[in-house]
Amino acid sequence: ESVVNRIAAGEVIQRPVSAVKELVENSLDAGSTSIHVSVKDGGLKYIQVSDDGHGIRYEDLPILCERHTTSKLSEFEDLQSIKSMGFRGEALASMTYVAHVTVTTITSGQLHGYRVSYRDGVMEHEPRACAAVKGTQIVIENLFYNMIARRKSLQSSADDYPKIVDLLSRFAIHHKNVSFSCKKHGASTADVHSVAMSSRLDAIRSVYGVSVARNLIKVEASDANSSSSIFEMDGLISDANYSAKKTTMVLFINERLVECTALKRAIEIVYAATLPKASKPFIYMSIILPPEHVDVNVHPTKREVSLLNQEVIIERIQSTIELKLRNFNE
Ligand code: ADP
Ligand code: MG
Repeated sequence: ESVVNRIAAGEVIQRPVSAVKELVENSLDAGSTSIHVSVKDGGLKYIQVSDDGHGIRYEDLPILCERHTTSKLSEFEDLQSIKSMGFRGEALASMTYVAHVTVTTITSGQLHGYRVSYRDGVMEHEPRACAAVKGTQIVIENLFYNMIARRKSLQSSADDYPKIVDLLSRFAIHHKNVSFSCKKHGASTADVHSVAMSSRLDAIRSVYGVSVARNLIKVEASDANSSSSIFEMDGLISDANYSAKKTTMVLFINERLVECTALKRAIEIVYAATLPKASKPFIYMSIILPPEHVDVNVHPTKREVSLLNQEVIIERIQSTIELKLRNFNE
């Protein structure tokens, strides 16, 4: 059974950055305003995510890392959200099958917090009382210690730290009121790299450069009164002063970080036609749609989505962007 669990867990958590994504999403769901990530050895040795969210109640600790255990019950009851949010109650459980997980947490009004470690879905010991500051800290150690081939291939391939910074910048761009930071510890104590992103522009600047942050164009569209394609979009796009080797698209649909290749290509086409010299833009976009209009691949690691009435929505966004870029050109 443990082999089956381990294989399933390795599907949910494919590499260090996927663990960070799940942990940060949990921190955001807990209402955090400040989230710190710290990693060693590209996340293979150590990942720590600390937040200032509402914490985890003592009575929830024993089952925290059981599969399909979620406190997000109202969402769970709603079939449509299961579809739009992907799997529920899988992430933390999965991590315990492929790493050593330690949780330190305190809920509001408590004098002390609790610390507990998990392995293979269960607590290794009773929660121990400890000093804690507001929120939750989760440490993932020795990721894939029991998946030798995976560990080897990750060790020899590129470090996940840049991917983690990129991921956090995406969250920081969307969650304007949450500050993020990321730290990497190298082999020696002096070898520390860190990034702080306390605002949206900070995040854009530190990851995509100063020039893009200076010249962003605001875009907005909504279609609230036509019942066939109810949607709201707002975002920020780069102008003719920015061009990169490839397009960056930071896309949130219904508050979830996703990808939509068709939409990205469609926007590139508009840029190529109106600003040929800046045809690899930076795009941040948040789209709100009725959940039943978003078709998410149920596999937890696939971020690609497709939309109902996709053509209509894409054309609407294309024309909005085209108008903005033409105005800019004049
Ligand atoms: P899900 O997010 O789908 O509910 P997870 O396995 O990611 O499942 O997390 C399990 C549960 O652990 C969550 O429902 C939540 O109650 C709790 N949890 C995890 N991380 C945090 C956190 N940082 N702050 C508060 N609660 C958390
Ligand atoms: Mg989660």
